[in-house]
Amino acid sequence: MGSVDAASTARPLHVVFFPLMSPGHMIPMVDMARLFALRGVRSSVVTTPGNAHSVRPAIDAAAALGHPLALHLIPFPDPSATGLAPACENLSDVPAAQFDNFVNALFLFQAPVAALLRDLRPDALVSDSLFTWTADLAAALGVPRLIFHGAGAFPQYVICNLLGHFPFLESFTMDGLPHPILLYKDGLPELMDNFAFLQLLGEAEAKSYGVVVNTYREMEPAYVDYYKKHHPQGLRAWCVGPVSLCCRAAEEERAKRGGLPATEANRILSWLDGKPAGSVVYLCFGSLCRLGVAQLRAIANGLEASGRAFLWVVRRDAEGDPVAEEKWMPEGFEERVRGRGLLVRGWAPQLAVLGHAAVGWFVTHCGWNSLQEAVCAGVPMLTWPLFHEQFINQELVVEVMGAGLRVWEGLRRCRSPEQTPELVSAEEVEAAVRKATGRGEDAEAVRRRAKEYGEAARKAVDEGGSTHEDVTNLIKELEAVRLQKAGQGEAAQ
Ligand code: UDP
Repeated sequence: MGSVDAASTARPLHVVFFPLMSPGHMIPMVDMARLFALRGVRSSVVTTPGNAHSVRPAIDAAAALGHPLALHLIPFPDPSATGLAPACENLSDVPAAQFDNFVNALFLFQAPVAALLRDLRPDALVSDSLFTWTADLAAALGVPRLIFHGAGAFPQYVICNLLGHFPFLESFTMDGLPHPILLYKDGLPELMDNFAFLQLLGEAEAKSYGVVVNTYREMEPAYVDYYKKHHPQGLRAWCVGPVSLCCRAAEEERAKRGGLPATEANRILSWLDGKPAGSVVYLCFGSLCRLGVAQLRAIANGLEASGRAFLWVVRRDAEGDPVAEEKWMPEGFEERVRGRGLLVRGWAPQLAVLGHAAVGWFVTHCGWNSLQEAVCAGVPMLTWPLFHEQFINQELVVEVMGAGLRVWEGLRRCRSPEQTPELVSAEEVEAAVRKATGRGEDAEAVRRRAKEYGEAARKAVDEGGSTHEDVTNLIKELEAVRLQKAGQGEAAQ
C-alpha cells in the first residue's frame, strides 16, 4: 500500500477540461482550469484550432506564472459532415438556423477526444454537459466525469423541478421553493421542448460522478444547499465560483479575456477613465444574441433621450447581415452622443469594464456568466432576458437577490430570430435607465445589495471561504479516487 501512496502522490492530480465551443462555456471553464492549476492540479484544456486564440492569453498567463495549465487542440469535424461553414467552430458564429447542425457536430468529437484522453491518461474529466457521450468514455477509461452546465444552482433547481408543472400553463407560480417565483411557458429554456435530448442529458448525468457549479454559496444559499442535498440523480455538487475572480489581480489579462486585442481593450477602458465614478450604464447582451433592426434603433433612441452616459456593445455580424448598421442606427446618432456614449462593435472587455469604477449599472441579458461577473464587481443590473435559462436567472437577480431591476415587466420574447420586432420601446429604455441612475429608493437599495454580494464573492474565493473550501474538498476527493483506483489496479496484479 505504501508504494501506491508514493506512486500516486509523486505526480500532481491531472484534470482535463472539455468545454462547449461557445464563449459562455469556454470562458468559465478555462477560468476553472486556471483555478485548479493555481491549486497545484495539472490542468489540460481541450478545444479546436479555431477557438485557440480566445483561450490562449489566459492559458499563457497562467503558464508564465508557473501554474501547470496546458492547451490541447483537436480538429473540428469537417464541414462536409456538419453542414456548417468552414472555420465556423464556435456557437457564437453559427447562424440561428444552423444551431442544430452545431449540436449534431458535438457527437463527432468522440474519436479524437477518446484518443487524446487515452494519451493524456487524466485522473478526472470535467465535461460540458452537452457532450453526453463523455459519460461512457469516462466510464470506459475509469475516470470520474464531472459535469459543467454553465448555469447556477437556482436555474438548475428550477429546471429540475419544472416537470412537476407539466403541461405548462401560459404562466404559473412555482411554489415549494424557498421563494415562490412566477414563470411563463414561453420563457422556459428551449431545451424543454426537446425531450429526446433531455433524456440523453439525464442518462449521461446519471452516469457521472458529480457537478461543478460556477457559483458561490452566499449568492444563492437556499438553492445551493438544496441542490447539493437533493440533486435529482443523486449526484454530488461543488461550488467553484465565481470563477472569473481567478484573474482579479491581473488587470491587463482581464482586458484581453476572450481574445480581444489589447489596443481595442485600452480604447474602451481609457474612455471609461474619463467618466465620473458610477456614471456609466453598460449594455451588453452576451455573445450569442442577435437583436433586430427595430429593437436596436429603439435602444439607440432610448439611450440618447436618457441623457445618461453609456457604453453599449452591439454584436458585429457578417457582411450582408440584416442588422447592418446603416439599417438601424438613427442618422447622426454617434455624433450627437459623442463624449457621452460609446458604441462598441463586436466584443468588449466585459470583466474589466464591470470592474471599472465609472460603471454604475449593467443592462444584461442575464446570461449566467454576465450575472456572476456583475455580482463580483458589485454592479447592479437592469435585466433584459432573451432566451435559454435567462428568464429564470432574472427571477434570481430581481426577486431573490434584490440586486437588479427589470427593464420591463411580464414576458417579451421572440422565439424566431428571423423576426425582428421592437419588443421594448425607446421610451421604456429611457425610463429604465433614468430610474436606475436616479435617486429613488428602489435603485439605492439595489445598488447597496449588489455591493454586498460583491464583497461576499471575494470572501468566498479567499482562503477560509465557502468556494475555497469546496474546491479543496473536490481536489481531495479526486485524489482519493485516484488512490483507490491505483490500489485496485495493484490488487488485480
Ligand atoms: N463577453 C465579453 N465581451 C462581450 C460579450 C461577452 O467579454 O462583448 C463575455 C462575458 O464576460 C461572459 C461571456 O462572454 O463571460 C458571455 O457569457 P454569458 O453567460 O453571460 O452569456 P452568453 O454569451 O452565453 O449568452
